[in-house]
Amino acid sequence: MRDFTYICPETIDEVCQLLSEQENAFLIAGGQSLLPLLRLRAADLSCLIDINGLKNANYITFENQQVKVGPTARHAEVAESETVKNHCLVLSQVAAHIGDVQVRNRGTICGSVANADPAGDPPVLSALLDVEIQATSVRGETIYSGSDFFQGFYATNLEEDEFITEVRFPEISSPTGVGYEKWEPSEGAYPVATVGALITLEGDLISQAKIVTGAIEPGPTFSEDAATILIGQKPTTELITEAAISVGENSDPIEDAEGSILFKQELMKTLSKRAITTAVDCAQGGA
Ligand SMILES: Cc1cc2nc3c(=O)[nH]c(=O)nc-3n(C[C@H](O)[C@H](O)[C@H](O)COP(=O)(O)OP(=O)(O)OC[C@H]3O[C@@H](n4cnc5c(N)ncnc54)[C@H](O)[C@@H]3O)c2cc1C
Repeated sequence: MRDFTYICPETIDEVCQLLSEQENAFLIAGGQSLLPLLRLRAADLSCLIDINGLKNANYITFENQQVKVGPTARHAEVAESETVKNHCLVLSQVAAHIGDVQVRNRGTICGSVANADPAGDPPVLSALLDVEIQATSVRGETIYSGSDFFQGFYATNLEEDEFITEVRFPEISSPTGVGYEKWEPSEGAYPVATVGALITLEGDLISQAKIVTGAIEPGPTFSEDAATILIGQKPTTELITEAAISVGENSDPIEDAEGSILFKQELMKTLSKRAITTAVDCAQGGA
């Protein structure tokens, strides 16, 4: 491995300064995605900025109807947090099923959002819930919206001198509900297909519907046709089935060793039906 400088700053200002000055600088948070890259010598690295020594960066708080997750909060901490369970249960459920115990004990939500792995769970949830992504640089703070932050294969709107200092998830409660489903070939492996559904009810009709798919395409993808099928209708089993079929048939999966296009489209139909059904149940006040 080629030589590089290792720096472990204690403040956000120091990180910003380093990012503005150093060429080929990489942050390391949990290292669960970056370290495999470094081992493969696939990253042109000259400076490694370890943010694990940042003061006051490992937090999960609830304020202004938002669950705020700091840059070194681990998946396991998010999964177990009572704050998250009380205000955004789906985030806890998603974090609890990321990778295996080791991945969850080191990996971070902010790192995962920044990394924009097509198979990552936090990017799909962030797009679905339209989270606020706070990025900081020497130029100040920018808030990106989760619904248009992801720009395809490992690409986001984040500028080179910015880093994510907080992700803010909205409080989710009835009459809004969220369902999230994924399929992984084995326990602890990256998912092959993921889908999140958000439903809001007004009386017994669906007033808001969002469906986002992940892992099968280069980034989180909104299923607009399926949402159109749902909005303004009663959430019957027939309607949910019709919307789920639409998600699968209008998806454009990448064919690879994990499965054919047809297999992934069928997977999407099944996962979408489950996710929409859960979202409707939660919107109606169910668990
Ligand atoms: C075996 C295995 C299975 C996995 N399974 C899943 C899974 O099922 N679902 C899933 O979602 N993920 C999965 N992951 C990935 C895991 O969730 C990682 O936590 C995540 O990809 C990145 O988080 P990290 O903190 O480890 O980031 P790192 O590896 O430290 O960094 C990843 C990238 O993000 C950048 N970065 C890190 N933090 C920030 C920040 N605050 N601001 C800007 N840039 C930043 C780094 O510079 C780097 O480019 C798996 C990983 C492994 C090894």
